[in-house]
Amino acid sequence: MIFDTQRAIAWINRIAELVRADVERLTTLDTAIGDGDHGANLDRGMTAAVDALAEKEPETPGKVLITAGRGLVSKTGGASGPLYGSGFRAAGKAMRDEGDVVALSDALEAMLRAIEELGGAHHEDKTMVDAFAPAVAAFQQAAGATADMHTAAVAAAEAAEAGLAATVPLQARKGRASYLGPRSVGHEDPGAASTVLIFRALADVTAE
Ligand code: ADP
Ligand code: MG
Repeated sequence: MIFDTQRAIAWINRIAELVRADVERLTTLDTAIGDGDHGANLDRGMTAAVDALAEKEPETPGKVLITAGRGLVSKTGGASGPLYGSGFRAAGKAMRDEGDVVALSDALEAMLRAIEELGGAHHEDKTMVDAFAPAVAAFQQAAGATADMHTAAVAAAEAAEAGLAATVPLQARKGRASYLGPRSVGHEDPGAASTVLIFRALADVTAE
């Protein structure tokens, strides 16, 4: 299986679909420990990404991710827009045209690094990093063991979900939720929830 231009476009489109289907849930999560805009932010940003790809189809998978990242940065409000946007741009720059499982693995790692660098969040700060980092680690491990893109993506989605669940007992140390102090405990982090959708979408578009 190759992560080519068409598969990269399918990934972005699938993320947009999953975000659209879960806007309310993301909003509810962000209402509990933030300002309630995460669902709408990401829906707007992913729509901009999808539109940008439809307007002029990029020639390589890397350019697809860079274009999507630009769309996200331009239209997603809040903290998550620049974080995901620069993440996708970094993934795009790292993505090699041969699009094998190793290339995708490296692109996902570059995406994580960009998010960590820009946001400065670490493990257990109760952010998207708590889902993203275990997802990338699981992808790399499964990719090394099986060399199968779909198996790796499924493992990544499962690890992201476990990472999301693990944010519940944490007190937020980054982002808007950190203003709540101990009152941020007992809720899933909205950004970790949207990261699950990103990896579930990857599992979906690598299924055949
Ligand atoms: P805002 O908090 O500005 O309203 P969103 O609601 O769109 O932005 O996104 C909130 C999510 O962004 C949080 O749930 C968290 O996962 C993520 N986030 C916020 N700040 C950071 C950061 N510094 N590093 C990583 N992720 C962050
Ligand atoms: Mg918010």
